[in-house]
Amino acid sequence: MNNKLNNISTLFKSFLTVKNSYKGGKGIVPKNQNQKVYKLSSNENPIGTSPMAIEAIKNNLKDLHLYPDTTDIRLRKALEVYYNYQLKAEQFVCAASGSELLDLIVRGFVREGEEVIVSTPCFVPYKMFSRWAGATIIDVPLFIEDYGLDVEGIVNAISNKTRIIFLTSPNNPTGSYIPKDVFEDFMFKIPSNIVVVFDEVYWHFAEANDYVRALPYISQYPNIIAINSFSKTYGLAALRVGYAYTNKEVANYLHQICKPFLITKLSLQGAIAALKDVFFIKRTMNIIKNERIFLQSQFEKMCIDYYPSQANFFLINPPIPADDFVKYLAEEGIAVRPVENFGAVGKVRISIGNREANEALIKAIKKINILATNS
Ligand SMILES: *Cc1c(COP(=O)(O)O)cnc(C)c1O
Repeated sequence: MNNKLNNISTLFKSFLTVKNSYKGGKGIVPKNQNQKVYKLSSNENPIGTSPMAIEAIKNNLKDLHLYPDTTDIRLRKALEVYYNYQLKAEQFVCAASGSELLDLIVRGFVREGEEVIVSTPCFVPYKMFSRWAGATIIDVPLFIEDYGLDVEGIVNAISNKTRIIFLTSPNNPTGSYIPKDVFEDFMFKIPSNIVVVFDEVYWHFAEANDYVRALPYISQYPNIIAINSFSKTYGLAALRVGYAYTNKEVANYLHQICKPFLITKLSLQGAIAALKDVFFIKRTMNIIKNERIFLQSQFEKMCIDYYPSQANFFLINPPIPADDFVKYLAEEGIAVRPVENFGAVGKVRISIGNREANEALIKAIKKINILATNS
């Protein structure tokens, strides 16, 4: 028996035998009936889901025995309208989540032994999916002081094996962003035969004057692929749906490796409806922006060392060791995220919640501060 198993295990691909698989932001179980719990660990929408999406999903519940659309074309057409025809339907690629698109792109462009460049701290799937493709991951970390992009470092790290460079703006887990001049300098210096994945899933929350999306650069640079998700702003994390936009040739290529029936019917209908829910999107954006200012001022009052954020979360240096901090808040009914595996050792990421959740968070941190100064 054992011998047979050993024979089979010689077939395992070494780069697929991963030591630690991805752990999502944890929720917590209330200690008792009276404890309220707040999940501030996965950057989810604090006001829930687009009501228009929920309505559309309900209307489709009677057809669950039928296969969904074979392709994503209806969502692509809805995106064309959403983007005011600045992009054509043929420039979009939709899939069962933003993460799925990242995987699709890696599979589409990276062969075993080739290289990708990431800038840690960054979203873990960039590294995970690249490793699954047998790629070598080159890390050019963000600058330590402000988590800015090290353009020169990236340019110097490029080799003839480089296939993809992952950029994220606003970045998860740091909340930092890539200013317009930095991005333009970057694009100017990067060879056009390297795919630049521009992950902009948090763009709705960015307010900086010099924040840019990939959108205005798509026609100029055929090597950019922008990543978007319905998980965050639209509150559809459970449905797993996202989209990319790029130039027509790249989109066509990626369509060829999309599995048929990839997006469920409920996801497709939900996403199409959510795109039109202007009121919900506006409300989400306003709440995040307001609560971000509120939390920031509270952090300052409590002398919590935080990084400025353009996203719906904050990265902080907790007043006590990160693991203790996370455990302590969990006891208080608040789930937050340690981000050591993102490359931010000793730091914690806290999603921006609604006012009630944020106040519970502040109250709990105040208690820790008292404990920390008394010990
Ligand atoms: C959440 C997130 C995504 C996409 O999430 P999905 O739920 O897979 O659509 C992509 N990139 C970053 C940086 C994220 O934080």
